[in-house]
Amino acid sequence: MAIEDYKNVWTLGEVRNGEISSVSYELLAWGKKLSEKLGVKLCSVVLGRDIKGKVQSLFEYGADEVYVVDDPNLEHFLPDVHARICESLVNEYKPEILIASATTYGRTLMPVLAAKLGTGLTADCTELDVDLNERILLQTRPAIGGNVMATIKTPKHRPQMATVRPKSKKPLERDSSKSGNVISKEYPQEIYKSRYKWISFEKDESSDSPIQEADVIIAGGKGMKDEKNFKMLYDLAKVLDGSVGASRPAVDMGWIPYSHQIGLSGKTVSPHFYMALGISGAVQHIAGMSSSEIVVAVNKDPDAPIFKVADFGVVGDALEILPALLKKIGHKGEENE
Ligand SMILES: Cc1cc2nc3c(=O)[nH]c(=O)nc-3n(C[C@H](O)[C@H](O)[C@H](O)COP(=O)(O)OP(=O)(O)OC[C@H]3O[C@@H](n4cnc5c(N)ncnc54)[C@H](O)[C@@H]3O)c2cc1C
Repeated sequence: MAIEDYKNVWTLGEVRNGEISSVSYELLAWGKKLSEKLGVKLCSVVLGRDIKGKVQSLFEYGADEVYVVDDPNLEHFLPDVHARICESLVNEYKPEILIASATTYGRTLMPVLAAKLGTGLTADCTELDVDLNERILLQTRPAIGGNVMATIKTPKHRPQMATVRPKSKKPLERDSSKSGNVISKEYPQEIYKSRYKWISFEKDESSDSPIQEADVIIAGGKGMKDEKNFKMLYDLAKVLDGSVGASRPAVDMGWIPYSHQIGLSGKTVSPHFYMALGISGAVQHIAGMSSSEIVVAVNKDPDAPIFKVADFGVVGDALEILPALLKKIGHKGEENE
């Protein structure tokens, strides 16, 4: 099959607890960027039980078409079954690009699927784009221990497959007037035979930090100097109804738990407001916060790289600026709590 026969951008929708999950909408924002550049349709694939009546939201967040496989056997995620169905869909409809979220679902399913389809897969991308001259997907992710950003291409095989970090893009604005074409597929029962047996779902509470849901993040780095100075970050976050984030050195020094670490080896966040205090702006940190809407940086060094991604920069001592800021906004300290 010639490469030119493959067309359209597909996103792999996710179902959690019987509902379309929000990562599906983030993926559509990535997909829209690619499909608009290529001038093709944006389609989403959803597999689940009793899910057909719930796909309208995918249109409202950008999909032009939705492929649905709705079957009682799809109540739980069984990797071999999902991979077989996706393989069949891809072989029938031939998307040129297929992207999924780098969640447990995407990370488990996409490698199996790529191997079945005999194509490449770039995991955990932080950026996706299209080279229109070559009509090829540019899949960017940190490489060599996070020291460089590598852009990877799949020149000879289709579809071009990638997973992207959750929270690396915000969903598009919802447009409830939008609708589209639902393509409902049915498969013979053999396709649902699995080597896996569903036992139960146990949520790992420790891995779920509210930081990824926060709209406001006040983050501190090594420049905060001491664990006790992090108290001021918590005070400011509390006033602004936000959460506290940190760079890796702050976590390594035990000033704050790992669940607050932002960056390549920590969490990816996309809050409305991100304030970085005493953080230099290393590429590994930026990888986790670059899709924040408004970035404010406070750093003593006017040449600190964090200023390159900041919308507002304050050159100064965070340990003087923070108390002054707290005072200005009326925070009264301990006696007020
Ligand atoms: C594989 C790999 C993965 C990594 N993953 C991550 C990750 O997930 N997250 C992450 O953050 N890092 C990560 N790193 C580490 C990263 O490379 C940087 O070392 C780290 O981000 C630096 O943290 P920092 O900015 O707090 O410290 P520094 O780079 O030491 O910067 C401190 C900053 O504070 C400023 N400063 C000092 N005193 C003050 C003051 N009083 N007021 C204001 N400013 C002050 C300084 O000018 C400086 O810019 C990773 C590295 C590798 C190799």
